[in-house]
Amino acid sequence: MDALDILTDLENVVPLFQPIFNAEEHKIIGYEILGRYVSEKEELSLGSFFQDEMIPEEYRIEVENVVFSKAMEVASCSGEQDLLWFVNREAGLLMMDDGEGFLQSILSFQGKGIRPENIVLEISDRHVQNHIEHLINYYKSYGIKIAVGKVGSESSYLNRIAGIEPDILKIDMSSLRSNNSGPAYLDVLHSLSILARKIGAAILFENIETPYQLQFAWKNGGRFYQGFYLKKPQTDLLEKDILKEKLKAEIHGFILSEKKRLQSYYDLRVELNSKFQDLINRNKKGHSSNELLKALGESMDGIAFRMYICDEDGFQLSPNLYKTDDEWIIQPKYENKNWSWRPYFLENIIRMRSGKKGILSDRYSDIETGEVIRTFSLPLNDKEFLFVDLSASYLHKREGLF
Ligand code: CA
Repeated sequence: MDALDILTDLENVVPLFQPIFNAEEHKIIGYEILGRYVSEKEELSLGSFFQDEMIPEEYRIEVENVVFSKAMEVASCSGEQDLLWFVNREAGLLMMDDGEGFLQSILSFQGKGIRPENIVLEISDRHVQNHIEHLINYYKSYGIKIAVGKVGSESSYLNRIAGIEPDILKIDMSSLRSNNSGPAYLDVLHSLSILARKIGAAILFENIETPYQLQFAWKNGGRFYQGFYLKKPQTDLLEKDILKEKLKAEIHGFILSEKKRLQSYYDLRVELNSKFQDLINRNKKGHSSNELLKALGESMDGIAFRMYICDEDGFQLSPNLYKTDDEWIIQPKYENKNWSWRPYFLENIIRMRSGKKGILSDRYSDIETGEVIRTFSLPLNDKEFLFVDLSASYLHKREGLF
């Protein structure tokens, strides 16, 4: 399709609206506005037109403005005061007139009941623009909200997000096709959710196409959801509660399975705690720490694969006791190493000391084995703490994979 064909036929450039749902009320809170060209011969998305750098900027801006104005006509006729309108713009194109053109077209709809606060500017330009923060602050001063789209793992991106302080982070779900996406990808999403929390941004998961992706979005702090699994882009606005019952029921299923998972985590913790207390009480007297570890190892076949003892500052007081394919071996080289730099290490020491009970870590990839495991740790007394790395197969058996 030639760009000029579209430019000379703006009548057939129309907006589409893809609904965005929220987690707390299960209703539509807004729409992403997309462009489409509908002629007698064909119907095509304008997404690639807007991003095509071979097409002169003025042309792209003109078509973007047509889509936006037509969408705002629909918005103002809807009589809805609270809906959010997500508008995609490339930073480079906005900067051509210092952002003035886009601002003026937003303000021109104020008389028709569309406030700047209802507009979410979705910036998804991958070329980092130096002055973008200035532009964004200018828009924010009018109440326009900012979303950063196509959030990925690139670190330049993360820096930029921190600088922009967006209201919304849009995270693309399309890489998460099945429940066997690697732990690395899951960790990236997890760090994004922590970043979002730190900067006070809400997370919107987009391109949700399966129930699994919806569950993942819910579980990972997603406040807003968008994607074909919920609703496709359409020419008309929908009833806000159109999916209320379905979403409520589905999320209730997530709540039940998450509660079950958490319960089994706490049950495991209680069970390990009494098992170890028992073993330790039986073997503590008159045993060196090596002997204690060996005695524990005999009872821990199939459950644990590594054990060691540290002091309260993280210095390892014992060697590692490590399970190879058929026997427990002593690994002296770990003695006297310091582990205080590990995430949560000191915090866990304090927790163990105040609670006088064992604790179970989150799931993480073991550096040596690469398996996703948990560590159970337990105070032996005020100064010595036992660490037990639980084997992945035992955890799968006890908790399932999720
Ligand atoms: Ca978008």
